[in-house]
Amino acid sequence: MIYLDYSATTPPDSRVLEAYQIFNQEYFGNPNSNHELGILAKHQIEKASKEIKEILRAENYEVIYTSGATEANNLALKGYALANQDKGKHIITSPYEHSSVTTVLNYLAKNGYEIDVLDTNKQGLVDLNELRNLLRSDTILVSIAMVNSELGIVQDFETIKEILSEHEHVVFHSDMTQAIGKLAIDLKGLDLVTLSAHKIYGLKGIGALLRKTSINLEPVIHGGKSNSFFRGGTPPAPLMNSLAVALRFAYKDFNKKIEHIKGLNEYLRDRLAEIKHCVINYKDGIPQILNVSFLDLAAEHMHHELSKRKIYVSTQTACNSENSFSHTVKRVTNSNERASTSIRISLSHLTKKQEIDEFIDACKEILNENR
Ligand code: PMP
Repeated sequence: MIYLDYSATTPPDSRVLEAYQIFNQEYFGNPNSNHELGILAKHQIEKASKEIKEILRAENYEVIYTSGATEANNLALKGYALANQDKGKHIITSPYEHSSVTTVLNYLAKNGYEIDVLDTNKQGLVDLNELRNLLRSDTILVSIAMVNSELGIVQDFETIKEILSEHEHVVFHSDMTQAIGKLAIDLKGLDLVTLSAHKIYGLKGIGALLRKTSINLEPVIHGGKSNSFFRGGTPPAPLMNSLAVALRFAYKDFNKKIEHIKGLNEYLRDRLAEIKHCVINYKDGIPQILNVSFLDLAAEHMHHELSKRKIYVSTQTACNSENSFSHTVKRVTNSNERASTSIRISLSHLTKKQEIDEFIDACKEILNENR
């Protein structure tokens, strides 16, 4: 098997799995219970939150644990919009958001909110002048992912934060699911931040919304006592702890891992250049993602043929793969041909050069068979 789909999900780090098992055995008490076992589990959650905040330099935030990034995005957007209706109903976003942002914003639009989607330039970056012009006194929220999951486009957060700093009434949310653990990040200027464990060698079923403590939200999951007012339910303490462990190892030897991935990305580009009619759809993304089009072959066909050979990549993203025409690729390249033949290859520090060689050989074979 050759796995080149690390942006869809990552295999859990064995240290995360081990920590999860030990935690389940040692701290199985309900963190809501007032007896010793409950208090022990609760104490461990507090330790995990402290570690997450230290790693992300997020001292002024609450870690609200969720089932993943989808729930965190729901809580950020619905939660903020519902709790702050009296301040306005205008929200600004980008055209590169994950479906767990766009579908929530569509829901809000149906319920009386006004959503503006920013235009983008040739580099795939959101139009900052348009952002400046769209901001109004009733704008309550701006939601822009730092890294797009399909092409790896990194938005200019320095300038976006600068612009928003002049509009203190506007809350800035970012879906950082594809950024955390992959880039060095600075949360300064961000009010709400989404992350997910299974993209950083953690477990599926746990993520978080970091909430600046001054920001008020309406819970999406109401319930009884929990570790956060904003999310009901018995806290899944072993999963919460596993998120801290995953983050710890994601940022361990970080520079070394990134250098390795950058080298692989360059090598992959060199090898892809050997293939006629293969084009790179976006050159300036994060090194973990390379989106390419094999112009001769429909994306789903290439995907299927690779999959038959146990080589795993994505058409678009895992959450949006039923239709292989990529609107994101179309937007950036202005080409229908590229948009219908694009494949996302996503790399990891675990990827080996030999896997890239085998992937290239398979692509050549598939293209020869189909020409
Ligand atoms: N946002 C982005 C940018 C993603 O890539 C994903 C996962 N595909 C999600 C949100 C949803 O994450 P989860 O699976 O944790 O709900």
